[in-house]
Amino acid sequence: MSCQETHELIHGYVDGELDLQKSIGIEEHLRNCHECTQAYKGIRTLRSAISDEVLRFKASENFENRLRSALRSESKSGLKPGFLRWRWILTVASIVGAVIAIWAIAPIFTRQSAGDVLAQEIVSSHVRSLMADHLTDVPSSDQHTVKPWFDGKLDFSPPVRDLSEQGFSLHGGRLDYIGNRPVAALIYQRRQHSINLFVWPSTEAGDVNEKVSVRQGYNLIRWVNGGMNYWVVSDLNLAELQQFVQLLKEQILGRASLGSQIPGSSLSLVPPSAIKKPPRLRDSKI
Ligand SMILES: [Zn+2]
Repeated sequence: MSCQETHELIHGYVDGELDLQKSIGIEEHLRNCHECTQAYKGIRTLRSAISDEVLRFKASENFENRLRSALRSESKSGLKPGFLRWRWILTVASIVGAVIAIWAIAPIFTRQSAGDVLAQEIVSSHVRSLMADHLTDVPSSDQHTVKPWFDGKLDFSPPVRDLSEQGFSLHGGRLDYIGNRPVAALIYQRRQHSINLFVWPSTEAGDVNEKVSVRQGYNLIRWVNGGMNYWVVSDLNLAELQQFVQLLKEQILGRASLGSQIPGSSLSLVPPSAIKKPPRLRDSKI
């Protein structure tokens, strides 16, 4: 993929709108092109900065009144009454139209459930860990080092699994704070993508199957299993992230049940054909 193609597709990539093949094409290009990587990082930083709640501006109560009186005093000066009246009617009509449109559409986008708030916290924490260069408190690829590190720091013992043989290498662990409680964050790496896996005890009665969502260009998968909440977040493409979740579930379930067959342990969110490797790019330097 050329620099120009990358520039044309980069926003779609950041928004998670590209198919797997294009995503991997861009990732290959970013690995070899410093200039496009800088542009990509700039877009990512800007996105997470402007999506911050702190920057949202809510109009004050009397804003509408002030706007109306400003319009009134404006309309008193100069123009013919008939024209003014029509202009006023048209203005009001378009405002009413816009308000109705926003009223009809807004709830779809702005309704915030507890899950949405949690998802936002997860993404923010993921972005913070990357920006502040604070991915790990205990940098280690050894699960037998990472797991005991959490002893005494949390009131539960998170399952830590090494998946480096399957291409998802464990990079360490970190204490984090999500949903008003301390949680375990485990960090995995896939190519240049960091994956944050958050784990904490669940208050839900049974298991919950995977739910996939996209937020600020990051893919999220959450599920509940064996009394634990799991949230995975990464800019890795969805197919590979689902593969990661599947491997993780198999490892955790496999150990918990000493290899016995557990119904529902194999996922079918993405058909195997979608996970196949894309054709190698001709000009790839790898
Ligand atoms: Zn480039």
